Amino acid sequence: MKIELAKSYGFCYGVKRAIDIAEKNPKSVTFGPLIHNKDEINRLANNHNVGLVESLDEALEHDTVIIRTHGITKDRLQRLKADGKKVINATCPYVTTPQQIVEKMSQEGYTIVIFGDEKHPEIQGVASYSVAAERTFTVLDKSELSALPLGAKVALVAQTTRKPDAYQAIAAELVVRVQELRVFNTICNATFENQEATEELAKKSDIMIIIGGKNSSNTKQLFSICQNNLESCYHIENSSELEASWFAGKENCGITAGASTPGWIIEDVTKKIKELTLTR
Ligand code: SF4
Repeated sequence: MKIELAKSYGFCYGVKRAIDIAEKNPKSVTFGPLIHNKDEINRLANNHNVGLVESLDEALEHDTVIIRTHGITKDRLQRLKADGKKVINATCPYVTTPQQIVEKMSQEGYTIVIFGDEKHPEIQGVASYSVAAERTFTVLDKSELSALPLGAKVALVAQTTRKPDAYQAIAAELVVRVQELRVFNTICNATFENQEATEELAKKSDIMIIIGGKNSSNTKQLFSICQNNLESCYHIENSSELEASWFAGKENCGITAGASTPGWIIEDVTKKIKELTLTR
């Protein structure tokens, strides 16, 4: 069986940077998972003594706190600093940008519309930078816009992992509804490149293995792109989930991985697939 990796996959700039920061700061904790990959989080804990805390109260018990790639809310960041913690900000610069845009545009009186998942930590962080919660809205679909009291001036930002065509649809809907619309392209190219490469590979494969955390938004999107192109696609976190039966009768296996999947897991999965399909 032929095994092929997508032209672009795995760790992005922001995740590489965050891992590098964590490795250089042992005896620290990260506020929330640094990236959406529990195997890599375990490696950081075991090899580099970088722990994980999930709440502000827990974070306040430690001296050095690393802020995760997708950021935290402004009030939590301020509280950590006010309590004299050493705060090391590993928030990806592509996430810091929409935080700054939301702060500035809300100060200038714009209604803020965020295209993204309001439950996602990145979006909770971005929304928290608005100085006017009452005119800050998060939507997942253009159909939600009609119910919102938008006002005359709107600034639009997107979650870094959102699809460009869906973002364009929201911008197109808004532009005819308000007097002034400022649209900021805050979608991350790394995600986009991985998505395009995944689609290209899915089209010529008869089985796709998508590697990444089950709660990783960008991995889930890669999985969904694969599902649109072929039947046999499997989202796994590591090689232990692979099953030999998936590969029966298949000739071309494509592999892709989310932006927070470390290279060592991808290598391990590739090796295990080779072992499982050796006799075919
Ligand atoms: S996917 Fe993009 S926004 Fe998210 S951490 Fe990576 S580089 Fe940053």
